[in-house]
Amino acid sequence: MSDRAQRLTALFGDPGNDLLLVTDLVNVRYLTGYSGSNGLALIGPQLLIFISDFRYQQQAAEEVDDTFARRIAPAPQGLLDLVAESLPSGELRLGFEADNLSVSQHERLRAGLRDDVELVTTNRLVETLRAVKEPDELAWIKAATELADAAFERLLRDGIVGHTERELALALESEMRRRGAERVSFETIVAAGAHGALPHAQPRDVAIRDGDMVVFDWGAELDGYCSDCTRTIAAGDPGRDARDVYELVLEAQLAGLQAVRAGRDGRDVDGVAREVIAADGYADQFGHGLGHGVGLEIHERPTLSTRSDDELQPANVVTVEPGVYLPGQFGIRIEDLVVVTDDGCDILTSVPKQLVVAD
Ligand code: ZN
Ligand code: ZN
Repeated sequence: MSDRAQRLTALFGDPGNDLLLVTDLVNVRYLTGYSGSNGLALIGPQLLIFISDFRYQQQAAEEVDDTFARRIAPAPQGLLDLVAESLPSGELRLGFEADNLSVSQHERLRAGLRDDVELVTTNRLVETLRAVKEPDELAWIKAATELADAAFERLLRDGIVGHTERELALALESEMRRRGAERVSFETIVAAGAHGALPHAQPRDVAIRDGDMVVFDWGAELDGYCSDCTRTIAAGDPGRDARDVYELVLEAQLAGLQAVRAGRDGRDVDGVAREVIAADGYADQFGHGLGHGVGLEIHERPTLSTRSDDELQPANVVTVEPGVYLPGQFGIRIEDLVVVTDDGCDILTSVPKQLVVAD
């Protein structure tokens, strides 16, 4: 953990900060090990301080890496006051996470600081580190993926026709929990027929009918690390049109996987898959990005999309998930989770991708 803090301080050079105040709880967890819901970290080359309140004293003692000095505030709102007290003397540039600190928190922090402490915005420094996974992080993501894959294959064995979307979502989530998932990494999507044309559909109390295409998007969380997978299953014969679109999405997905490689821009990888779908006239029916990073959060860096500035690096973990959504008819999305390597990627997801026609 201290190793992560050390690599973080190496990123201070650009804004020229002396210390960084980390308030985003996922970033705090990444750097310190603390998984509670009120805490922050102060990081500098010569200083590592973790601050929480009295309710988390025990948890902090158990979880926070030994390299951090621990300070406990007497009240849940008192964390920022302890920041001011913890700073070394002398002129200082203190970075804070612009995406996380609210305006009122910023005001409170500023009010408590000496005049020779300058507050400086920083942008996603910890997130930049988090994008490149360490071997044990990859192991957790792989284990979460295997667990989620097995739960899904178990679900399909009981058949889907006649069950409602909500029943199937619940069954899949309980199966993941039974197999050891701490929680689901996001609300499971089960969306049949025309409902599947909404990329973020909520499961309904509507039964799956024979001939429906059904989108399943689900993930498990292990030791804080997420998995993410989508499969579109046919409940009985879906007909020619749906089969054709399925083959097109699969072709785009395979092209996207082929394009993933360290050194490549997220925008280019997105473009490769998007072109396959556009060539068949469905450009406007693929309205989202090709993929996103996955780790302690379900959506993190890097991003594969038309607007991405990210360049892929070895040990990034990203999804590749093209989709085609036809309003009033059906939606089809196929998503794998992969680890970026120097010459391509390792696919973590093992659920088959040829069209499954389930009972
Ligand atoms: Zn997904
Ligand atoms: Zn995803």
